[in-house]
Amino acid sequence: MYETRAYSAAGAASPLAATTIPRREPTERDVQIEILFCGVCHSDLHTVRDEWHDVMPTVYPCVPGHEIVGRVTAVGSAVAGHRVGDVVGVGCLVGSDGTCPQCRAGFEQFCPNGVFTYNGADRHGTAPVTYGGYSGGIVVDQDFVLRMPGNLDLAAAAPLLCAGITTYSPLRRGGVGPGKKVGVVGLGGLGHMAVKLARAMGAHVVVFTTSPGKAEDALRLGAHEVVLSRDAGQMGRHAGSFDFILDAVSAEHDVNAYIHLLAPGGNLTLVGAPEKPLPVAAFGLLFGNKSLSGSLIGGIAQTQEMLDFCGEHGITADVEVIPIQKINEAYERMLRSDVKYRFTIDMASLKG
Ligand SMILES: [Zn+2]
Ligand SMILES: [Zn+2]
Repeated sequence: MYETRAYSAAGAASPLAATTIPRREPTERDVQIEILFCGVCHSDLHTVRDEWHDVMPTVYPCVPGHEIVGRVTAVGSAVAGHRVGDVVGVGCLVGSDGTCPQCRAGFEQFCPNGVFTYNGADRHGTAPVTYGGYSGGIVVDQDFVLRMPGNLDLAAAAPLLCAGITTYSPLRRGGVGPGKKVGVVGLGGLGHMAVKLARAMGAHVVVFTTSPGKAEDALRLGAHEVVLSRDAGQMGRHAGSFDFILDAVSAEHDVNAYIHLLAPGGNLTLVGAPEKPLPVAAFGLLFGNKSLSGSLIGGIAQTQEMLDFCGEHGITADVEVIPIQKINEAYERMLRSDVKYRFTIDMASLKG
């Protein structure tokens, strides 16, 4: 084992602060990565503050970060496909058993033995739990290391590893493409990625927002139309017309209003996680064979497919790059939605 610099939280009420953490010596299957950039995901904040205690209690110290872009500094003898000097990515997963039906179907995120990049059971025994990307380096099994397209700005590409795949996967499952009318509800970290991706897939993209101030930005990001969701007249004009709607809102809101906008056979997929259960009117689904779904990140093969797609279409997140020393302030701003549209930490700041 060796030590690397990191930022960790000591408890649910503690701010993140500088520390050192252990990393394992690379095994023959491992890739050792110097982290260049790490995106800041809302899940980081939830985990640091133990807000998902009932589902996934946080083990402290907690080092979050699962939107990792870095450079390979060493590879084990059995590693194929990654070489020293390569620019690579690591997302929400760093391990799975590789043998269960979910793994074999390419859904490693649902593996009963899956390992999340942080706050996951560390099977190598380096620490009680895995430590994420708010650190100088990480050691990851080769199967969970992704190839970054060479043409993308790396700071802006980091959020693709979570926000990108979280939106790409359901858009693909929803058959989004030319001739399809697609809605995106909520224009935040996830929503702004969904707009860019759905547009690049060739769909007609409509953004729903509660803030008139976001309309101009939605169009700049690639939306064809913007609908103010509190305007009944505007909503009514789109009734029964959408093939697919991606709902990226984590606050309480009325999903029935969006189910009403689906065409027969249409699907509404949730990627946000409101705290309280959502009321759903069954009749809204019955009339038109409509469906309501959820979606959680994506498997490793699809994450690589998403990165390649983003490379081909020049897609990255809109980011504000911060030094790690500003991370606690960034969390407060994220809570106020005061970011367009994702923070990315420049990990060079960790040395300062
Ligand atoms: Zn995330
Ligand atoms: Zn598995």
